Amino acid sequence: MTTPVAAYAAPAAKAPLERTTIERREVGAYDVLIDIKFAGICHSDIHQVREGWGESIFPMVPGHEIAGVVSQVGPGVTRFAVGDRVGVGCMVDSCRTCEYCKAGLEQYCVEGAVMTYNAIGKDGQPTHGGYAQKIVVDENYVVRIPDGLALDKAAPLLCAGITTYSPLKHWNAGPGKKVAVVGMGGLGHLGVKIAHALGAEVTVLSQSLRKKDDGLKLGADHYHATSDPATFEQLAGSFDLILSTVSAPLDFGAYLGLLKTDGALVNVGAPEEPVSLNLFSLIGGRKTLAGSSIGGIRETQEMLDFCAEHGIGAEIELIAASEINEAYERVLASDVRYRFVIDTATI
Ligand code: NAP
Ligand code: ZN
Ligand code: ZN
Repeated sequence: MTTPVAAYAAPAAKAPLERTTIERREVGAYDVLIDIKFAGICHSDIHQVREGWGESIFPMVPGHEIAGVVSQVGPGVTRFAVGDRVGVGCMVDSCRTCEYCKAGLEQYCVEGAVMTYNAIGKDGQPTHGGYAQKIVVDENYVVRIPDGLALDKAAPLLCAGITTYSPLKHWNAGPGKKVAVVGMGGLGHLGVKIAHALGAEVTVLSQSLRKKDDGLKLGADHYHATSDPATFEQLAGSFDLILSTVSAPLDFGAYLGLLKTDGALVNVGAPEEPVSLNLFSLIGGRKTLAGSSIGGIRETQEMLDFCAEHGIGAEIELIAASEINEAYERVLASDVRYRFVIDTATI
């Protein structure tokens, strides 16, 4: 028996989201039913609603920054109980047997992880995300939200938090390292907080200086506008690590010029168009250009515990579900401070 659940969905590509009802599967032996309290709006939701990355599945209930409370558990569930505060991020399943799944890197599963929405689940049904009042998820893809974190400010950690934490850790951001974060939106502002908490010297590279005061308050040591060509001269050869969170194509050659020899530019932004690069910008200083996708389940739990320990939550603008379409326009205009979070009680 499926259960009807109130949700917000895009009925077709580029169409405004509207209230609807979806069916959630029966709570299986290893499933938890979560009463969703808050869902963050990630720029990836917008790319997919607009089919910017290719064909999507409609109707689509986006949302992969989910925070809520467990309201039912299947008989085989061992890790969660009714009343637990939990989160769900970008994945709800994977093969569980490949080398990456075994290593806790489910996001790189050779069969492809089952994404929280805009995917087909193992039951053959389309998956639906967090812009809804309830979700049923296998307990292995659910994480615990520590008591010290408010659920609304924790929701964006489930994608934006882990997507910045994972590469910052992998590329050793920490004391003595100069780290630049490009783009101070949803991902970027958490990247600043996390890199600062890891002990790195943090620089924000934003299109303008409009958000400079905020950036410095969030933990940045320096803040520069990329619209000013002098920035690229002044900062040439400065950074050990650059994390780009930009949702649009960038001139990566110009940013590689800001790295020290042996520095790395790690891109997590997922623009809809390809970029071109003169490879001499890598050869010169033995530089690395890398990518990174979200983070595994174990690492997501580690990130949440780290954020609780350091008092890190997202800077949010809490909205009603009826404001989602307006929020999308503001994200597209880089007018977000710094994550829209939907109060799912308003659905
Ligand atoms: P967001 O809140 O819109 O932030 C992106 C920021 O990039 C903007 O706030 C803006 O910062 C900057 N920006 C936007 N357009 C720009 C342009 N034309 N030139 C230079 N800078 C520009 O988006 P988000 O939710 O953080 O997501 C960012 C990107 O990461 C998206 O493409 C998303 O799909 C992707 N993503 C990837 C992963 C992954 O696993 N790799 C996970 C989640 C999201 P300033 O105003 O400071 O310049
Ligand atoms: Zn996301
Ligand atoms: Zn796998």
